[in-house]
Amino acid sequence: MMRVLTEILAARPHRGTSWIAALSGITESPTLVVESSAVTIVPDTKDWTWVVKRPCPECGLDTQSYSRNAVAGMIRDTAAAWQDLLTGPGDPRLRPSPAVWSALEYGCHVRDVLQLFDDRLRLMLTVDEPRYPNWDQDAAAVADRYGEQDPAAVAGSLGEAADAIAERFEGVSGNQWQRAGSRSDGASFTVESFAHYLIHDAVHHLYDVTGTQHAGSAAPGA
Ligand SMILES: [Zn+2]
Repeated sequence: MMRVLTEILAARPHRGTSWIAALSGITESPTLVVESSAVTIVPDTKDWTWVVKRPCPECGLDTQSYSRNAVAGMIRDTAAAWQDLLTGPGDPRLRPSPAVWSALEYGCHVRDVLQLFDDRLRLMLTVDEPRYPNWDQDAAAVADRYGEQDPAAVAGSLGEAADAIAERFEGVSGNQWQRAGSRSDGASFTVESFAHYLIHDAVHHLYDVTGTQHAGSAAPGA
């Protein structure tokens, strides 16, 4: 019981505190908040939908500087960066500290988000204003034993998931960008804002692992 509880608490370690840091303008190392056992770590329940409207002070991505048509390419590029992390030098299984996800665990999460969002995107394109089925990302991390998965296999499935949703976005045109859907918490999206929300998630978690902010801005007209 304790082990499971510990894992749940460790699952999404620093977004909550980083949110506070973001509001206060503090730039925070991803590992800072876990140095003290007095810090209470809670799963991430914050609403991150603001990232489709303004730049993220943590990872540096300004989703509004990218056109909706650029997102499919960004998904593929970000997936390639994840694959490098999972198969490159260093051990992706190692957590930087006990309460911070490893690159492998974040990679599993990003793979699952890509698959989940592809399902949601398909729903938005085929059903009028669907309410997405709920997904408990922290429970998924524990139930699917993210930390015990094979990094090379995760890299492969992450790439496949990225290709699938990138292809679906590439097939979106015209008024389809304004089709709507909503989460169980009531947050609503259009296909366009959904694209921006998704790419921020994948990019932000790269920052969570590497500490490196997203570089570059949109190519003109991209
Ligand atoms: Zn971010």
